[in-house]
Amino acid sequence: MIMEGPRPRRFAVNPHAAPVDMPELPEVEVTRLSFAQQIAHAQVLQVGLGKPLRWPLGVDAETLVGQTVQGVRRRGKYLLVDMSGGLLLLHLGMSGSLQFGRGLPGLGKHDHFDLVTTHGTLRLHDPRRFGAVVWAESQTAPMAQKLLGGLGVEPLSDDFEPIAFWRALQKRKASIKQVLLAGDVVVGVGNIYASEALFRARIRPTAAACGVSKPRAQMLHLAIREVLSRALAQGGSTLRDFSNAQGQSGYFQLEAMVYDRAGLPCKVCQSPVVQLRQGQRSTFYCPVCQKR
Ligand SMILES: [Zn+2]
Repeated sequence: MIMEGPRPRRFAVNPHAAPVDMPELPEVEVTRLSFAQQIAHAQVLQVGLGKPLRWPLGVDAETLVGQTVQGVRRRGKYLLVDMSGGLLLLHLGMSGSLQFGRGLPGLGKHDHFDLVTTHGTLRLHDPRRFGAVVWAESQTAPMAQKLLGGLGVEPLSDDFEPIAFWRALQKRKASIKQVLLAGDVVVGVGNIYASEALFRARIRPTAAACGVSKPRAQMLHLAIREVLSRALAQGGSTLRDFSNAQGQSGYFQLEAMVYDRAGLPCKVCQSPVVQLRQGQRSTFYCPVCQKR
């Protein structure tokens, strides 16, 4: 649990190590935990807007003023800020980070959204502006459905079940890595954790999803849960000493088995880790440990 300190803190998430692949589900969840309790029951006093983000807010900013924040949930990589008259959907894109505190300075060059409340200001800082803050009157409103409707199951929930996962993979001809990244079977497994989970399950990232056997799919199911849970646990412990952190280190990279380790020896068999491009993304795997 983070206490509010003398200086506003930035709950971001590894801006140095691999910005293109961050943040992923664990970082978004850690971000949520870092301000959800503090902002609950706050009343919105003012809204500040910077440059346009990926999608427009979708409502006059004045609409938010006077509303009460009821809580903050997460769905996939979206944070849902429930308010008395609807909800805000926040996405951190590729370079976004949230800051929550009192007495923040005025909007900087890369600050594009401020929710000023009676408990403090929630601020989105996003140099590349792939992030978004979108208003929806309810979770069933068209805009919310457009963003959330196609999402797969939550990987850490009971709905993520190994046999159903295997059956869903059976229907897909694309590579297993790309099916994971697509997020419509299971959400929140981005480039880093997909590479790591496939290594743990000993599945080659280029293998067709429909060719993954039932036992391998079960291993992958377990591996996805393990890598995400571990990253969450580490993120939580890293956040505890965020007060002195403006140069946060990559907390997951410290123990990655293959991600971002091209040419380095595999930690299991010593063979060099291979890097290739799949879609627009880098994939890392061990050709010896991940044979099929
Ligand atoms: Zn290996």
